[in-house]
Amino acid sequence: MNQPVYQSFNQLTNQPTHHRIGVIGGGQLAWMMGDAAKKLQIALAIQTPSAADPAVSIATHTVFAPIADAAATAKLAELSDAITFENEFVDLEALRSLDQVQFYPSLNSLAPLLDKYEQRCFLRDRGLPTPEFTAFNPANLPDRYPVVLKSRRLGYDGQGTFICRDRSALEAVLQKYPVADPLNHWLLEAFVPFDRELAVMVARSQTGETVVYPVVETQQENQVCQRVIVTPEVLIKPDAPSVVKQVESIARSLLEALNYVGIMGIEFFLTQDGKVLVNETAPRTHNSGHYSLDACLTSQFEQQLRAVSGLPLGSPDLTAQGAVMVNLLGYEVAESDYAEKRQQIAQIPHSHLYWYGKSQSRPGRKLGHVTVLLEEGDRDQALQVAQQVESIWYPA
Ligand code: ADP
Repeated sequence: MNQPVYQSFNQLTNQPTHHRIGVIGGGQLAWMMGDAAKKLQIALAIQTPSAADPAVSIATHTVFAPIADAAATAKLAELSDAITFENEFVDLEALRSLDQVQFYPSLNSLAPLLDKYEQRCFLRDRGLPTPEFTAFNPANLPDRYPVVLKSRRLGYDGQGTFICRDRSALEAVLQKYPVADPLNHWLLEAFVPFDRELAVMVARSQTGETVVYPVVETQQENQVCQRVIVTPEVLIKPDAPSVVKQVESIARSLLEALNYVGIMGIEFFLTQDGKVLVNETAPRTHNSGHYSLDACLTSQFEQQLRAVSGLPLGSPDLTAQGAVMVNLLGYEVAESDYAEKRQQIAQIPHSHLYWYGKSQSRPGRKLGHVTVLLEEGDRDQALQVAQQVESIWYPA
């Protein structure tokens, strides 16, 4: 007899299992859920604006609509037992009327995170360390520089983040981006002269089980992540245990405080005196967790589906000594598939290349990534491999 495919999980875990998952967003993060969905026998329905979006090819159903279109999410809900996010730029208040479907993370968990100023307040009020920050007041510009001016909502890949060395640089940004309500548009924070930037993925299940992935180093250029380094030597040696402890404790406290179900990426600054400050959170899978596809027992994409569908979480342990992930960012406006460069990069030993199939390249656009597993968990080796990839990818 043909049993529904999810039956085995119910028998295995004795838990309710959602087997039709709706995903708001159809970019590369949703696309990379495809293999895990197959493995877990989960059907994915997505909501995304364009037929050219990467995840359309792996979805069983697609609702073509903008991310913030809550009426479209109502249609997605009809196709789904539970809904999760690959993109959090939703209309939260409008989604609250859709009470026939469960969101993971819940709308209440998301609510304090979507506005960077409110997110900072939430963290501060729970004693979690953040850079110094203040609400922006155009009538009272700061006296001390540098400062960082950030758009409170909808920022990504450094869009909406401006490091201002002096008052005239700040005024220039305000002039270039006039907004109707600057007070509610901008967040002002102290520039952190960090030693390194770190990130971690953390997942929490419907029963409150929490797993924390390895702490990684991220390297940004022009505020866009270029590479992610995963080695036991990522952290400054004498401080490493304390840094890992700080990161894990913040991650667990935050998900607990939010009663969060799903996966989250958290970005940190490591200060020169070994303190960890939260820069920002991503309530979904994250670029800094892509290495987990090839270097961990459970990828971040499988973990998200496990949490959302009610399955027990998988182990986040590394399966290699280390890894380096390099983003393949657009550097020109073009319609090329860069086949030759991809072929060369794929020849690097222990490399795993992911190409998102976007038809248009633009400067800074994430077109793909490559993860290279390392034989020794050595930071210098990771940086050398990253340089090898980048010297093939970027024009001299
Ligand atoms: P986005 O949400 O667009 O990714 P972020 O707030 O993460 O924006 O900022 C992007 C990058 O800008 C960070 O990774 C970091 O390199 C730099 N940056 C952001 N805020 C600060 C800060 N307060 N001090 C120093 N650098 C910062």
